[in-house]
Amino acid sequence: MTPPIHSARALVEALCSDACAGRRTNTPGGALARRHIEDALRARGLDPAEQAVPRCNGTNVIATIPGAIDRWVLVGAHYDHLGASREGVFRGADDNAASVAILVEVAAALAARRPDGRGVILAAFDAEEPPFYATGAMGSQHFVRSPTVPLDRIDMMVAMELLGHGIGPQGLPDAVHDSVFVLGGERSEGTSARLDALADASPGITVRRTDAEVIPPLSDHLAFWEAGVPFLLLTGPRPATYHTPDDTPDRLEWPRIDAISQWLERFVRDQCARPEGRVRFLRDGRDDRSTLDTMLSLLRPLAAMTPLAAQGVRQAEALLARCDAKGRLGEAERTAAQNLVAAIEQALA
Ligand SMILES: [Zn+2]
Repeated sequence: MTPPIHSARALVEALCSDACAGRRTNTPGGALARRHIEDALRARGLDPAEQAVPRCNGTNVIATIPGAIDRWVLVGAHYDHLGASREGVFRGADDNAASVAILVEVAAALAARRPDGRGVILAAFDAEEPPFYATGAMGSQHFVRSPTVPLDRIDMMVAMELLGHGIGPQGLPDAVHDSVFVLGGERSEGTSARLDALADASPGITVRRTDAEVIPPLSDHLAFWEAGVPFLLLTGPRPATYHTPDDTPDRLEWPRIDAISQWLERFVRDQCARPEGRVRFLRDGRDDRSTLDTMLSLLRPLAAMTPLAAQGVRQAEALLARCDAKGRLGEAERTAAQNLVAAIEQALA
């Protein structure tokens, strides 16, 4: 019997331990990771339940905090990772133990002082990683097929990925380093304005919006997007250690993890208290301008340091000038914007 896990850091260390062996779906290490998450939730006053995911022999962990009304906000993060190979244990600290720790801290804060309005579902999803990603076998896809509450009662789904590292190498300006990205605000009515109002609500981070299509939709938000549930992906760029045995806890930035936990608690409270009866999903919502504004907020502070960033500023400004009144680009320019984002991600990895 191990003592209960009382801090975000202790939970991340446990999830990244040799004993969890990379948390691969349907392995003893995956099952141990699940027990750590359940123990951590119980130690914080929640009552987690397991949801079997038959297509991958996996298991989701679900905790529920009822609200005053029978409508819901769902926060999810996958806890599985790649397992181990001859290269060593793939510890998946950034991908996605840090996000699971944030999930548990947000759950604890919301259980201790319940939000007004809607209830909250906390989901640690299994089977996000290869070979399951972008298939119906993912834990999040299963949840959408077998939801614990009717899907049309979920007004917001927030997925988390890769939140444990600041942007770029140490020493970059705070405006760059402290950025956190949120994708998909444009896919539901009124959400972007609420995100913008809270962009600087937590000291140490700035939450910046981009369009959901800025990267391929490979994470747990996809199932909800396809089902027409308002969704967001809260994330950072893939670091150089992404999907390598070097994605280890000692590289994580704990003040950032704390700041994101505090921000997300605040944002979930805001979503729970939204006055609309039902938050409207916007299937054709698109906001290329938000993507370009966010890229410029990263590139401008770097333009004096590197000619590449200065060139990026010119490209982003040229694209911004091509946006229509609704902030949308034509298809060709859209591809150019996606290429620019990929180049920035690579340069800052
Ligand atoms: Zn991954």
